[in-house]
Amino acid sequence: TNRTFYSLRPETPLPPESFPISAAEFALSLLGSSSLPLQPALIDAFSSASLSFPSLLSQSSSLATALCSSPFNLSPGSVAFILSPSRLEISVLYLALISIGVVVSPANPASSLSEISHQIGLCKPSIAFSVSSVASKIPSEIPILLLDSPFFTSILSSNVPNSPVPTIKQSDTAAILYSSGTTGRVKGVILTHRNLIACIADQHTRRSEKLAEAAAAGETPSQTVALFTIPLFHVFGFFMLFRAIATGETTVLMERFEFGAMLRAIEKYKVTIVPAAPPLIVALAKSPDVLRFDLSSLQTIGVGGAPLGRELAQQFIARFPNVDLVQGYGLTESGGSVSVTVGPEESKMYGSAGRLGANLEAKIVDPSTGEALGPGQRGELCIRGLIIMKGYVGDDEATSSTLDREGWLKTGDLCYINEDGFLYIVDRLKELIKYKAYQVPPAELELILHTQPGIADAAVVPYPDEEAGEIPMAFVVRQPGIHLTEKEIMDFVAKQVAPYKKIRRVAFVNAIPKSPAGKILRRELVQNALSKPPTKL
Ligand code: AMP
Repeated sequence: TNRTFYSLRPETPLPPESFPISAAEFALSLLGSSSLPLQPALIDAFSSASLSFPSLLSQSSSLATALCSSPFNLSPGSVAFILSPSRLEISVLYLALISIGVVVSPANPASSLSEISHQIGLCKPSIAFSVSSVASKIPSEIPILLLDSPFFTSILSSNVPNSPVPTIKQSDTAAILYSSGTTGRVKGVILTHRNLIACIADQHTRRSEKLAEAAAAGETPSQTVALFTIPLFHVFGFFMLFRAIATGETTVLMERFEFGAMLRAIEKYKVTIVPAAPPLIVALAKSPDVLRFDLSSLQTIGVGGAPLGRELAQQFIARFPNVDLVQGYGLTESGGSVSVTVGPEESKMYGSAGRLGANLEAKIVDPSTGEALGPGQRGELCIRGLIIMKGYVGDDEATSSTLDREGWLKTGDLCYINEDGFLYIVDRLKELIKYKAYQVPPAELELILHTQPGIADAAVVPYPDEEAGEIPMAFVVRQPGIHLTEKEIMDFVAKQVAPYKKIRRVAFVNAIPKSPAGKILRRELVQNALSKPPTKL
């Protein structure tokens, strides 16, 4: 029997694979050049500064030209490390770099020095783009161009004549994003232009279908205004930004997330769609502040990045009955979304992550036998398709244990697909902790704990938390005769990691349970933590 699940969505048309085109050029070809949208491309929620589509295009081509010439001399295949909060210039930068074949590698600006040096060791950049407030975290041997400098602004407005863009193959690397995958430390996920083109095409097709439906129903669709609460360095924000460019939608950016400011921005800019992680759904469903604003423009919330419980979804809908709660699932390794609900009927399948995106295949594999399972049966989700990463940069071992020779990506997520093609994510098989949908790799925290002389052994696992989804919890075996407190352990780690990776709960044990092969039995630890009465720290 064939145990492969195929996408039920119509196939998305794509340029032939051998046709040389960058993902930037592809997005702009969908946008079309004859009549650029009149509404702003981007708005800064805090400063109200905005960027029009003509300016976005002219600034990115000025920047591209400048970066190809002296003193930068960037060429296809060079890597640009980007460390910055969301700002209008990031979209100009992404477009410019991708159009000249320079690999975009954005990281979380909250990262610690050691996290950044690890990422830089992976992507080996020849230039970095940053802002004055965080640039000092970048090792001094890498040349830095500050996005908030008059020099950068002068490049954007230089209006230099376009120089010919280098030829980009779709198989070339477009971006390196960061993920720890199913195990171990952070790795660099290689996404090609082809991967991004497939993501952008899929998003654009969904948008066109929606417009066509509205037209058929005799409605004039309102302008789409998206407000990003998700960061642009994460895969979710990354592909949503390209979606917005390709579809000519307005994007409102927030340099830092503040709930009140977000509500104000929805009211002020008549925001219609908010891509978000589950903690925002909790806040929208529960916060009394919501009632003080006119949020009637809101049509869609796209939620993904971490599990959203059915009850929470229902609480949200009780408060926002007219909002379409689009649920989706994806991972950095899949470039864009693997599954999503399309239309109000599918969105009512609360608890489901929707149906497979166009051009995708899935298998549900029994983790112990490797056997492919049928509808309704639980196993590890494996996916194959054009959006799947090329591999991890400089790590053949991790690549081959995640991507098999036939192109199947092991997601590390325990799932089932029902008879109607709806995907349900039941649990996570991989080590990953998701704090507010941000990745926290346990292995990284364990490495740090092992450097503390008073600690004999340690393991880090996810502990459930209503607001954050999960928090990192450490199980610690102290050296005999050493009295280390919970607080000392938490402080020790906090000094070395980005704030979202902090250990927020500690338990002392006599031994860390391990398999005969020495693998930490994480499930046993989680069970152990859940069965104990909570000692709130
Ligand atoms: P990231 O690479 O940061 O996007 O993390 C991807 C991982 O987040 C997935 O492999 C899942 O474990 C989790 N995830 C993403 N979306 C969902 C979802 N809708 N429901 C449950 N888990 C999710």
